[in-house]
Amino acid sequence: MWREPMWWTVVVTVAALMEPWAMFVHARVWHGPLMWGHRSHHARDTGQPGAAPAPNSWFEFNDLFSLGHAGVAITLIALGVRQPGSWNHALMVAVGAGMTLFGVGYFLVHDGFIHGRLPLGFLARMRWFRLLRNAHRAHHGPRGGAPYGLFLGPQELRWERQRARRSLTAIPQRIP
Ligand SMILES: [Zn+2]
Ligand SMILES: [Zn+2]
Repeated sequence: MWREPMWWTVVVTVAALMEPWAMFVHARVWHGPLMWGHRSHHARDTGQPGAAPAPNSWFEFNDLFSLGHAGVAITLIALGVRQPGSWNHALMVAVGAGMTLFGVGYFLVHDGFIHGRLPLGFLARMRWFRLLRNAHRAHHGPRGGAPYGLFLGPQELRWERQRARRSLTAIPQRIP
């Protein structure tokens, strides 16, 4: 393996980059060509603004989609650990570990805490988790749509509002 700080920098960077990637995949693929399967995750949406969706069942068809990313991470780590010492193999393990770190965080916060699949309700005592939960509820609310990301969900909602404000102020200029 590389010198530790370098290796950990790659792990943390990959984990951080997984958020915009997950945002993109959720918006364009899950809510695009794979909506037929992702619909199982939205089946319990109440349609009420800000309302918590009912706790999700222990299995949703949508869960199978997560296995795709898990498969990539497992393959990278499995291939990487076979030749310890070489930099490219350390890189493979680091990328796989970064993906795993994000995946575990996503599962705990999104599935475990927000959708109540694990007894993690105590996290609501912390403001940051409440912000993430409220933002994600907008995705499951009557309007649907953004935020598609999880950890950047509150930020995504702010971008949405800014875009909406800009398009509102742009309207008078378009009227002749
Ligand atoms: Zn969705
Ligand atoms: Zn959800």
